[in-house]
Amino acid sequence: MKRKFTILGCGSSLGSPWITNYNGNLKKSIKNIRTRCCAHIQKGNLSVCIDTSPDIKYQFLKNKIKNLDSIIYTHEHADQTAGIFEMRPFYWKNKSRIPIYGSQKTIKALKKSYGFCFTEAQGYKPIMTANVISKNFSIRKKNIKLNVKSFQVSHGLIKSTGYVIDKIGYISDCNKVSSKNLEHLKNLNFLVLDCLKIDKHPSHLNLDEALNLINITKPKKAILTNLHTDLDYFKLKKRLPKNIIPAYDGLSFNY
Ligand SMILES: [Zn+2]
Repeated sequence: MKRKFTILGCGSSLGSPWITNYNGNLKKSIKNIRTRCCAHIQKGNLSVCIDTSPDIKYQFLKNKIKNLDSIIYTHEHADQTAGIFEMRPFYWKNKSRIPIYGSQKTIKALKKSYGFCFTEAQGYKPIMTANVISKNFSIRKKNIKLNVKSFQVSHGLIKSTGYVIDKIGYISDCNKVSSKNLEHLKNLNFLVLDCLKIDKHPSHLNLDEALNLINITKPKKAILTNLHTDLDYFKLKKRLPKNIIPAYDGLSFNY
């Protein structure tokens, strides 16, 4: 059975370059062109995305993702949710509402900001059904099952949700994981982890903090995401040990 995980976007909230064409110190390369954080899992014919970034339409087209069954949300910030509106064609295609999953707080915020997705408005049918997650849940399609573990992590003044899906950890927005929740990240094959900058940041892990967390949890492979304009792909790759790599848009692996 096909099991494929794709980093759809690995940029920070403004991506790189910014809309002003500012690109920090990044070398000109496709590896440094980053859309906003988002990921996709294909397991058999089950297609699930994590977050709907403002770049989601371009990300789906570029990665040739033609179907979508469910969406898992990490948190309510605009760089992870603003593309929600783009998902309407999957409602038409599936002829059923798209189930979405998130913490109680995230679902509440999505319903407030994007009410038309969940209740009929101005003659438009709702396209989604909202599910508040529990610590462990699964997403199924016929005989295919994705096992998902969820836990809260600190993301500045809010909490975001970290996920372990099959043996892959995904924590895109986080500045601290409690020691209790670090246990969920042991024995992973892959860990996709927030690594915003070299310098410290109040809402995100910086490079030293991300490396420290990886050192404690020891995944077989770690992929750094949510990269800001001071983290050049090539310079970063050179200074990392072999089992840790910087993400780039479209990076995928079979698991
Ligand atoms: Zn955020």
